[in-house]
Amino acid sequence: MTADAARSGILGALDEHSGPREACGVFGVYAPGQAVAHETYLALYALQHRGQESAGIAVSDGETITVVKDMGLVTQVFDERHLAPLEGHLAIGHVRYSTTGASTWRNAQPVYRSVGDAGFSLGHNGNLTNTVDLAAGLGMLPGVLTSDSELIGELLAREYPPVPRADGRELEHALVKVLPRLAGAFSLVLMDEAHLFGVRDPHGFRPLVLGRTEGGWVVASETCALDIVGAHFVRDVEPGELVAIDATGVRSIRYAPPQPKLCVFEFVYIARPDSYLYGQSVHAVRQRLGEELARQAPCQADLVMPVPESGVPAAQGYARASGIPYGDGFVKNRYVGRTFIQPSQHQRGASVRVKLNPLRENIRNKRVVVVEDSIVRGTTTRQIIALLREAGATEVHMRVSSPPYRWPCFYGLDTGKRSDLLAADMSVGEIADYLGVDSLAYLDLERVVAATGSPGESFCTACFSGRYPVPVPDDDTKFALEPGRRTLHVPGTLEPTERT
Ligand code: SF4
Repeated sequence: MTADAARSGILGALDEHSGPREACGVFGVYAPGQAVAHETYLALYALQHRGQESAGIAVSDGETITVVKDMGLVTQVFDERHLAPLEGHLAIGHVRYSTTGASTWRNAQPVYRSVGDAGFSLGHNGNLTNTVDLAAGLGMLPGVLTSDSELIGELLAREYPPVPRADGRELEHALVKVLPRLAGAFSLVLMDEAHLFGVRDPHGFRPLVLGRTEGGWVVASETCALDIVGAHFVRDVEPGELVAIDATGVRSIRYAPPQPKLCVFEFVYIARPDSYLYGQSVHAVRQRLGEELARQAPCQADLVMPVPESGVPAAQGYARASGIPYGDGFVKNRYVGRTFIQPSQHQRGASVRVKLNPLRENIRNKRVVVVEDSIVRGTTTRQIIALLREAGATEVHMRVSSPPYRWPCFYGLDTGKRSDLLAADMSVGEIADYLGVDSLAYLDLERVVAATGSPGESFCTACFSGRYPVPVPDDDTKFALEPGRRTLHVPGTLEPTERT
């Protein structure tokens, strides 16, 4: 598959959805004497919200790595028949939504690479920003590698020592050489036959945590995956840290100085509400975002309602701080997933009805405040507002618990190109007109950061502020693994600079 085909495949898929697509979820476990495939399955199930395109597990029994992966949800890819043969005490798992590379079986993860008689497997959450330079440095033709995760595998394979080391740490040796050359966002889990590794990029864009089970260790994208396997949280894998886990225990290798820039959108939307980030409950932070929103943008209304389900905690917070009664305005069909067959073109306007149906008794003749965590492309939001009008709302006031989403993400969240973003070139007033609301307000970035309890410098806020912590290619090359002329946004500025 060429990069162009990959790109058109991704952008074609974007037309059918209006919200951000999550990036990926990763998990790894090392538990001598225990069978860990089923544990990995459970952890992936807990991380399903981070990626619904494909799922995979790699397991080692100490001598052989076996990989099973396929397109679909975790429960579609794995059943007892698939899990039973996956014997071993060491495993990594991955759920994927593509940010580079098309949605194809080849790009499902974990990626496996054989190197001589040995091999390794890796799972990646994030998005590299220097794929073009790295691929060119390898002398790879465009299209040979179809994802940045494959590229990492190729880089590692080329750094494997030609002769096996006495300590068996060939993959660790390769990682120490390759990791400093990667730019952008990467939370990785890797394994060879005997070792488990967790890696976070120097900015720590995507979360990764270390946990302890009875007799073993785990690494996971989010703490909710620790809960489901009965592990307790030990600590975050630090930005710029490589954690190695094997029969000797846990070792920490610092391969780059930390410059923490956790994705603030993890707090707003991506992470599961029962997870913890920077030591804070995501659910509690989302409720505080709603409270802040009520203080910043009060409203005369009869009912506060969420856009289910991601808007629920913020709506609860808004209601609590405003004193306006909280209630449900929609019933969500819980069984609509990514496998839902989209309606034909002429029915497309009705697609939101498949997912959300208004509770007319709650809405009719009411002034409603509808709370959403974010608006990215806006097409679904517009349909939701129309449904509320049809259901008899006398006034519809939209409140959003994050700032206007104006800049594309290059660090592992699929929001499409800048031209796909509703707020890219529209004022708040223009957006209100487009959505058909009586009033619209977004929460200020300073208030978002304050609600997290962590300092502003510790976050990436690029999609809201345009301040990219790591230089990024222009929109047109966002998904491409091909050389060419590009525009770079220099960190801390909105001004693009040309380079070839
Ligand atoms: S650009 Fe936005 S979504 Fe992407 S890492 Fe930064 S804050 Fe997160």
